[in-house]
Amino acid sequence: MRIVFLGAPGSGKGTQAQRLMADHGMVQVSTGDLLRTAVATGTDLGLRAKAAMDAGDLVSDEIVLQMIIHRLQQDDTSGGFILDGFPRNLVQAQALESMLADISQPLDTVILLDVDLDILMKRLTGRRTCSLTGKLLNVYFSPQSEIDACVDAGGKLIHRADDNEETIGNRLKVYREMTEPLIEHYRSAGLLKTVQGAGDVDTVYQGLVTALDLSGNG
Ligand code: AMP
Repeated sequence: MRIVFLGAPGSGKGTQAQRLMADHGMVQVSTGDLLRTAVATGTDLGLRAKAAMDAGDLVSDEIVLQMIIHRLQQDDTSGGFILDGFPRNLVQAQALESMLADISQPLDTVILLDVDLDILMKRLTGRRTCSLTGKLLNVYFSPQSEIDACVDAGGKLIHRADDNEETIGNRLKVYREMTEPLIEHYRSAGLLKTVQGAGDVDTVYQGLVTALDLSGNG
């Protein structure tokens, strides 16, 4: 299946994609993760992307498209993928459409994870990543046992540099101005399915499994 996850920062795209990966062997392609890796390893592309990421702005389409074209040429995505955090504006959506049309593999569905603003703020400020496993956790919402499991195994709870209140405000503004128009774009293409993203991880996941028609499928 070729899926796009649409939703504001903090709507749960990464967490839910990780679940689908674990339960259904799907391949998550997160442009945010790819960019953070490029920044951490100091590649030319990472150096060019860093300032925009630190400010909570969008990285240029040129950089992101170059990265995504390269990623979608790798073998593990030939059977399908979940695009998490891409596309983020209309130019990227159109580029994706023509990229997929060229290989006759159009999108199957676009999932909108719908979450109110007040919940997004708490999710973003509380978000941490376990340094050992990469698992996404939240100091407000994750069960204490999951947080302890990371720390007891010697892991650190990493706080993303752009998950601070100042940058979060800009990221949400950018989402409203640049990315939200994609909801209408995909709705009129007949591809959009909305999943309520406000509940706990399991409840949202059940909604997602139903929307993707995966029940009873592993
Ligand atoms: P994310 O992890 O998806 O929240 O992305 C973190 C940051 O990476 C964003 O705030 C942007 O600066 C950048 N980024 C990720 N995906 C894209 C994209 N598709 N287009 C432009 N910038 C992106």
